[in-house]
Amino acid sequence: MLNRRQFVGAAASAALLARIPRAHAAPAPYDVLIRGGRVIDPSRNINAIRDIAISQGRIVAVEPSILGTTGETIDARGKIVIPGMIDLHTHCGRDRQNAPMTLSDGVTCWVDAGSNGADKIDESVANAKAAPNMGRVLINVGRAGILPEGDTMDISRADVAAARAAIERNRDTIIGVKARLSYNVAGANDLEAVRRAQAMVMPFNLPVMVHVGQTVSPMAKILELLKPGDVVTHLYAPEPNSIFDGNGRLFPEVQAARRRGIWFDFGNGQNGHVTWDVAERAVRAGFLPDTLSTDYNANSRSTGVIDLPNVMSKFLMLGVPLNQVVAMVTSNAAKVFPAFRDRGTLAVGANADVAVLELREGTFEFLDNYGGKRSGNQRLFPIATVMAGKHAPRA
Ligand SMILES: [Zn+2]
Repeated sequence: MLNRRQFVGAAASAALLARIPRAHAAPAPYDVLIRGGRVIDPSRNINAIRDIAISQGRIVAVEPSILGTTGETIDARGKIVIPGMIDLHTHCGRDRQNAPMTLSDGVTCWVDAGSNGADKIDESVANAKAAPNMGRVLINVGRAGILPEGDTMDISRADVAAARAAIERNRDTIIGVKARLSYNVAGANDLEAVRRAQAMVMPFNLPVMVHVGQTVSPMAKILELLKPGDVVTHLYAPEPNSIFDGNGRLFPEVQAARRRGIWFDFGNGQNGHVTWDVAERAVRAGFLPDTLSTDYNANSRSTGVIDLPNVMSKFLMLGVPLNQVVAMVTSNAAKVFPAFRDRGTLAVGANADVAVLELREGTFEFLDNYGGKRSGNQRLFPIATVMAGKHAPRA
């Protein structure tokens, strides 16, 4: 044991020794330097031209100009540099094809929203673990997962014990339960499906994500069963039972749910989840999504989804400022699930997950899920992704 004086002396000379070689060394060698881009990081309130230095999988500096040798330089001049994006509603857990595609789009974290239930959840979990980006999984309330005849049309499929056992053995990857509630999925069992989803997560204190739109039960009845931290996806689904009453007014229960801490997610998808009419009314009413997501699956590239930057561009077209659109896929999304709490940021010390996008001017057409078209004059395109400090190859 050292006494106090010996300890202070030893510490001081150790500090001195540590300092001397550093003062004489060449500038730190970085693994990756992202140079000259417009860095937009809502978590740090940054919107400015910055260099970003990355070493050993971490962000080590975000400065107007960084000198130093580097393994690789990504020239981001004229581009937008944001935290790696978090897509909260995908089906990347279904197979191994889609996750690498989303990584190319700038998505460094994704959630598979209920592709599988208790019976096959281990497949989703294995696919998530094999993904080149960070994958997490919501288990479907129905034990057979997504079924053409409806996940919970037969409510006995919402098996609480089976789901709890599946969560228990996959605590590192399953982060909640997903319940699809449309009439062709749950029939008149929509409310019971939510009750059972809540029973499944209760011992683990996890969120439930509900897919709304075209439900048998009214929105207010569904929202009543949600707790703070739960997520409503497809928030701009059209009537019947949308976020609007029949007279075009936002239900007060919807505003109240947001005040209670329930998240509202976009969930672009392909069929039945959004019309421009509902989206435009909601934007006029000031009811924007907290998070944007693709509902990504094998057809997304060839339908109105394309990629997450295209989904973001739809909100630029609707008049939402770029900063706010970026927050929806980074800092906001990071708050929804504890698994992502240290993601969605370019803070020094954070995981080096970075998306480089380009905002191009022109005329771009954007689709809703009903063949509705709008044209906008800006669209974001993915340029490069850095995942855990490494420049990801394009899929
Ligand atoms: Zn989905």
